[in-house]
Amino acid sequence: MTDNPDVIVIGAGPAGYVAAIRCAQLGLKTLCVDKWLNTEGKPSLGGTCLNVGCIPSKALLQSSEMFEQANLNFAEHGIKIKGATIDLEAMMSRKDKVVNELTQGIAGLLKVNKVEFVSGTAKLLTENRVAIVPTVGEKQVLSAENVIIASGSSSIELAAAPLTEGLIVDSTGALSFDEVPERLGVIGAGVIGLELGSVWRRLGSEVVVLEAQDSFLSICDQQVASDAQRTLKKQGMDIRLNSRLRETNIISSDKRQVEVVYEDDKGQHKEVFDKLIVAVGRKPNTDHIAEHAADLVLDERSFIHVDEKCETSLPGVYAIGDVVRGPMLAHKGSEEGMMVAELIAGHHAEMDYDLIPSVIYTHPEIAWVGKTEQQLKASGEKYKSGIFPFLASGRAKAQGDTSGMVKVLASEETDRVLGVHIVGAHASELVAQAVIAMQLSASAEDLMLTVFAHPSLSEALHEAALAVDNRAIHIAAKRGR
Ligand code: FAD
Ligand code: NAD
Repeated sequence: MTDNPDVIVIGAGPAGYVAAIRCAQLGLKTLCVDKWLNTEGKPSLGGTCLNVGCIPSKALLQSSEMFEQANLNFAEHGIKIKGATIDLEAMMSRKDKVVNELTQGIAGLLKVNKVEFVSGTAKLLTENRVAIVPTVGEKQVLSAENVIIASGSSSIELAAAPLTEGLIVDSTGALSFDEVPERLGVIGAGVIGLELGSVWRRLGSEVVVLEAQDSFLSICDQQVASDAQRTLKKQGMDIRLNSRLRETNIISSDKRQVEVVYEDDKGQHKEVFDKLIVAVGRKPNTDHIAEHAADLVLDERSFIHVDEKCETSLPGVYAIGDVVRGPMLAHKGSEEGMMVAELIAGHHAEMDYDLIPSVIYTHPEIAWVGKTEQQLKASGEKYKSGIFPFLASGRAKAQGDTSGMVKVLASEETDRVLGVHIVGAHASELVAQAVIAMQLSASAEDLMLTVFAHPSLSEALHEAALAVDNRAIHIAAKRGR
């Protein structure tokens, strides 16, 4: 190990590895430590995102979506397939292959950029010293002028549903079932519950999702959330709101199952499932990240306390990604990583937390950026809204996928776009146009005056912007407030 790096990065997830690469690009001698080992005991870079998060979940979402398409929609296009079946082992191997190629890719990127990578566990000590216990070899203590903590997050566990091998699992377990459960329970109708619930429903499970809150996807614009909820229900996902988990019991008769006891307004209920996924949020990995004497300040929810520049309470120590406040999203962590690298190199850098897009990769996808209608109402800001349904889009019709809409919210006073909310096919791609527009402070009129290719799903964004001013062409859209 280099004994005098300029920067030590703890964690090689999307926050840490991006920070490390950018630091190295800026000429800083950079060392990155990560403790992740794959099932073969080998170092695997990319953190939660690449190993057990974004990438494997999207690989399975893609495979399961293709299976569902083949069974339900191909015939409408005149393509006849008799009895499409699943080879779950092959589907899982494909997912693992995608993960392996990408994690190895990160190792290659660190090497090319001359970031020194150490497989091991790091802990912050006093005075910017870091103790590193390598996977192989002796413990070493290094010091650096700058330390970036990017130790990520882990699934929250529930005392009422303790993880039980192959039966009660977190998101990681739910990414590698060895058979399709007949009845699958999911605790939490959040992002993970809906995405992984969708995967297994498409592959044949009867899925029941129990959600403690009485509103569906309260983080989303509620009009878009209701639309998505209706579609998911039509697909067969049984989402029960206001359902509070009380206990789980393992049943061992013919087969091992899990009984779930929950309560709603009507009283107590019981359901028996073949598997149960617990997806009730994630917590920051801060338990052993710094020795007590280092005096690293955490907030009341155990996230590392940082300012808007990701500076911690200690000079020269930064923290980024899931381990600090803000949405737990890979791209948010990566952007913070780049900002911090620039700051360490002495450059000006900042990021706009209001313009981080969010996506839920169900089908249809749900994607948004900026303020929701309920947020604007709560803040008293006067706004106009325009909506365009994909039902009226020629491209959506041609694709046979017309569910959902685009909604544009703009300031009544300045016409500036304040939020864009999309539920529909490829919403994850469409939302990027809204992010760029908002990054450049576009008005709804700017979007109206932009030419969009025909036929494309993007035209729905154009029409929704036109609808803000009651000018939509392909539908009689009414202006909002
Ligand atoms: P992590 O990715 O958690 O990486 C932290 C790294 O630090 C790990 O490799 C860990 O081994 C290492 N580490 C921790 N402590 C130490 C230590 N003491 N010493 C050395 N190394 C240490 N986000 C999206 O934006 N889009 C998605 O589609 C998406 N899908 C997801 C699906 C699932 C199932 C899950 C669970 C998450 C998903 N996320 C998604 C969230 C995303 O994975 C996280 O926001 C992202 O990985 C956070 O990046 P990070 O670098 O902060 O932390
Ligand atoms: P989440 O916060 O999205 O959802 C958790 C849900 O569980 C909430 O709706 C909450 O009300 C509910 N809940 C909490 N306790 C409960 C209980 N006892 N009983 C029933 N319901 C309960 O969390 P998640 O789905 O676990 O995802 C964790 C993080 O990972 C999220 O912050 C998300 O940003 C990130 N993630 C992102 C993506 C993506 O970007 N597509 C995908 C997966 C995960």
